[in-house]
Amino acid sequence: MNIAVLPGDGIGKEIVAEAVKVLDALDLGLEMQTALVGGAAFEVHGHPLPDSTLRLAKSADAILFGAVGDWKYDKLERPLRPEQAILGLRKHLGLFANFRPAICYEQLVGASSLRPEVIAGLDILIIRELTGDIYFGQPRGRRTAIDGHFPGSEEAFDTMRYSRPEIERIAHVAFQSARKRSKRVTSVDKANVLETFQFWKDIVTEIGLQYPDVALDHMYVDNAAMQLVRAPKKFDVVVTGNMFGDILSDEAAMLTGSIGMLPSASLNATNQGLYEPSHGSAPDIAGKGIANPLATILSAAMMLRFSLNQEHAADRIEVAVKRVLSQGLRTVDIHSVGTRLVGTAEMGSAVVTALKN
Ligand code: NAD
Repeated sequence: MNIAVLPGDGIGKEIVAEAVKVLDALDLGLEMQTALVGGAAFEVHGHPLPDSTLRLAKSADAILFGAVGDWKYDKLERPLRPEQAILGLRKHLGLFANFRPAICYEQLVGASSLRPEVIAGLDILIIRELTGDIYFGQPRGRRTAIDGHFPGSEEAFDTMRYSRPEIERIAHVAFQSARKRSKRVTSVDKANVLETFQFWKDIVTEIGLQYPDVALDHMYVDNAAMQLVRAPKKFDVVVTGNMFGDILSDEAAMLTGSIGMLPSASLNATNQGLYEPSHGSAPDIAGKGIANPLATILSAAMMLRFSLNQEHAADRIEVAVKRVLSQGLRTVDIHSVGTRLVGTAEMGSAVVTALKN
């Protein structure tokens, strides 16, 4: 089992170190190789996704990814910005299905900004399509961008597009995932205004006919954003496009208390996957040793389950995380009165101890 470890920038290095510590403690004989990505790679190789990193990622069974980005790269032309490394990995590895479970741990009900009765017991799965939509449209405004600016331009534009096969395969993933859960899929679109999303809605409906045991409903994205905070437990599996999924999954993250708790998996057709926390590189707290490593540790659990067939080891990590939360240990993002404030490394070590016991 070969794993490419790509810590990236900001808190990426700190949180990935804790996930590696947890994986090591499981003694599964994993082969882990580390490489630079994002701003860290740009500094050394002049590119956020150097060939050596891409080769390592392609040859691995799974990729454990931290986060990339820093404000200091905002002036770089777009292809050289750290975030392009993720888009590049998704494209080169064909990672089209992004799974973002939003689970509200019983111990963290009080950490959410919503009332406990609204989020207690929440367990929803947002499935975001990753390879189409406006993020990969052509042409892009950058053709006129020099040094991050658009001299003499009066407009910039991006085009939204989806192909039939792209929608079909993500719809299949959603219906199959729903079969393992409560057998309900909500497809989120903006079919009332956008042709791309009328096309999306028609095709998801068509694929749904092959899954008569799964209930399908459709919702406009503005309504979905509202329902997610009004009555999030009404959802089970939510499937949507690249941009709406980007936004809704961050909104769902906050239902659970902190974005520092949310893992994610991005899979291709052969179950090779990239596993990363849902949050970014958090430059505001980088280097302080206070970031929450649990989203990355839980991403490592998803990696064991989805790409490496190590269901039991994945369960062990998830149980250990619940145990440290029950012990009252909290990083600063989920800390409240009556709990014990710990740093990144202490939280990682507590998960290791819980695993061993
Ligand atoms: P962010 O997710 O990095 O941070 C948002 C807020 O959440 C910050 O206040 C941060 O301190 C806090 N936070 C995030 N993760 C945390 C954790 N584990 N523990 C405690 N607090 C945490 O989003 P941002 O500030 O909008 O972006 C910062 C950089 O990250 C940008 O360069 C952005 O492009 C990049 N980014 C990268 C990814 C990725 O690598 N997949 C995703 C989103 C943003």
